[in-house]
Amino acid sequence: MSVGYYPKREKVGLEDLFKGLVTASHILHCHGVLDAYGHISVRSPDNPATFWMPCNISPALISTPDDLIEYNVEDATPVEKNAKPGYLERHIHSEIYKRFPAVNSVVHSHCSDMLPYCISEVPLKATIHMAGFLGTGVPVWDASSHYPSGSKHDLLVRNAQLGASLSAAFKPATSAGFIYSKFRSALPSQIGGSQEPDKEPNHAVVLMQSHGFTTLAHGIEEAVYQAIYTKEAAKAQTTALTIRNAHFGHSVEGKVDVEGGGKIKSAKVKAEGDIKYLSDKEAHDAWEANQDTISRPWGLWCREVEVNPLYQNKCPGGEDE
Ligand SMILES: [Zn+2]
Repeated sequence: MSVGYYPKREKVGLEDLFKGLVTASHILHCHGVLDAYGHISVRSPDNPATFWMPCNISPALISTPDDLIEYNVEDATPVEKNAKPGYLERHIHSEIYKRFPAVNSVVHSHCSDMLPYCISEVPLKATIHMAGFLGTGVPVWDASSHYPSGSKHDLLVRNAQLGASLSAAFKPATSAGFIYSKFRSALPSQIGGSQEPDKEPNHAVVLMQSHGFTTLAHGIEEAVYQAIYTKEAAKAQTTALTIRNAHFGHSVEGKVDVEGGGKIKSAKVKAEGDIKYLSDKEAHDAWEANQDTISRPWGLWCREVEVNPLYQNKCPGGEDE
């Protein structure tokens, strides 16, 4: 299997791309980023106005090019009128590709390790060097503020309006007067690949309230890397917060109104600091260092799914075979 679908290879054949997309779906399932739900897509290498993603089956069971559907970026309609049924939430992908011309792959996940950060208001931040792309804060997008009138309130990104709103949470990109934010400086990969730097996203990952997360990247391997290490970073942060609280605990100092039935009149929570998060520069430099190493885990992850009989990649081999 080749690596470097974007932007390291000048030309990617569709056969090669199909095989990579099926492998990526298997890897994301194997690592618990996707279960029966969630999806990865990739922009067409020969036509930026379309993208490919699996039809409506579980990611682990995607197997052949017939399981993949080509969609129009403009409105998420299938290019072939008689295409198989697709995922409801394909508007996540279409609206991101529409807003960010340099983005070529998108992963959307309901991964359970992420959910605490989608419902608790505890901010997800980069805590480990493998996830420097998270920067010093990951936005949480809330569908409840954006449902079109008359639409279902089921949290699913089932139309272009919700997709566009989520896409905008990755930030500026379209404003001609956009001033680089500190997040941009922390995300060199999100700057480097575009001819139109004002259309690059500020964030690699956006959390979705009570739902999951979405990550975008310049290529399939980068998207898979980010999805897996977003999950790993969330696990590390959750565990760190848990053991820290268990070990140090929190004490409350204040006054209790005994005559008033024991009500607390005034109180202040005392905690022993916070867990250590990466600084802006650490996040920036860590991601810069790791970007050139993505082919190493990609090779391992490909082999893992190759030897697991659950995963059947029956796509022709592309240019490598
Ligand atoms: Zn979803």
